[in-house]
Amino acid sequence: MRDIQYPFENTPEVGEWIAVAEGVYWLRMPLPMALDHINLYVLEDRDGWWIIDTGMGLDGTQEAWQQLFDGPMQGKPVLGVIVTHMHPDHVGQAGWLCDKWRAPLYMSFGEYYNARTFSASDFSSISWTTHAFYIAAGVSEDYLERVRAKFKGFGNIVTPMPMAFNRLSEGDVLTIGGRDWRVMIGSGHSPEHVCLYNERDKLLFSGDQIIPRITSNISVMPSEPNANPLKRWLSSLQRFSRDLPDDTLVFPAHNTPFYGVQTRLNYLQEHHQDHLEAVEEACIEPKKAIDMLEVLFDREIGVAQMNLALGEAIAHLNYLIEIGRLSCSKDDTGVNWYQTLDKSVAKRGNRSHHKDAAPMEV
Ligand SMILES: [Zn+2]
Repeated sequence: MRDIQYPFENTPEVGEWIAVAEGVYWLRMPLPMALDHINLYVLEDRDGWWIIDTGMGLDGTQEAWQQLFDGPMQGKPVLGVIVTHMHPDHVGQAGWLCDKWRAPLYMSFGEYYNARTFSASDFSSISWTTHAFYIAAGVSEDYLERVRAKFKGFGNIVTPMPMAFNRLSEGDVLTIGGRDWRVMIGSGHSPEHVCLYNERDKLLFSGDQIIPRITSNISVMPSEPNANPLKRWLSSLQRFSRDLPDDTLVFPAHNTPFYGVQTRLNYLQEHHQDHLEAVEEACIEPKKAIDMLEVLFDREIGVAQMNLALGEAIAHLNYLIEIGRLSCSKDDTGVNWYQTLDKSVAKRGNRSHHKDAAPMEV
């Protein structure tokens, strides 16, 4: 298995691009977070361009696109906009781009409707279901109010979504610039994440499904408290391991293009197995979801990251419940308590587990 290698020394400046394969161009847009960029890609077709992911709906992103339209894209039209998944850094400018060029949007069914719902939802008040979700996780009423005040939803960072789309499903093939791109769907980070693979040249647009230095956030959300996204994430990773050759050149949505996909897929699976073990050991005495933050993360989690951190903790707890390793019972105050079923886990002793610095925003 080959080590992770980054074949490109430079990263593209805003408004510029770097050719990373014949007819494939890599560009970047800034993000206002610890993770300060997203990678976007443009594919050359006979009479125009196809765009993969769009950037967040922020000041400056449209101007950066305009520099590309006027510069390297030579005024040729955008023929299609492909969005890997619903998150605002990916889908944020889809509405603007599709309107501007009267170009069709390509997304999976699950991602399109989630993006439309989330970008149009009102998060100014809190529903009883969301309230119950956070109380169950062990968050206090005061703290919940602070978390709520911080979360403004997606509406202000996503331009209005196109009102129509073309559905991408597993196995579909898009032919662009003489290459066949096969749709591979992953799940767990988002419901129906689109990756595109070209078998002939071994090129993969991986979005947030495979990123070389970031472990994508795997979260249970208040809208589906009993979801098991980690199960879907791990089975997606296994499936990508089976299907992708080790010498695939991967174009991820964050960090930089890389070789070494098998090494990375192995690492990601081990990372979550390690976290699962740590959570199981921590729950030998009954614990709340919020108690798992110090098990998974080595820094104190601030209000802004609480949603992601709790979501990730509950993803590991729900996974362990489903495979029969943990029990969960709700007390009179609505708090869920988790306890390890197999007491022999205690004998594993205090292995040292790898902790993440903080939950990733992507
Ligand atoms: Zn994402």
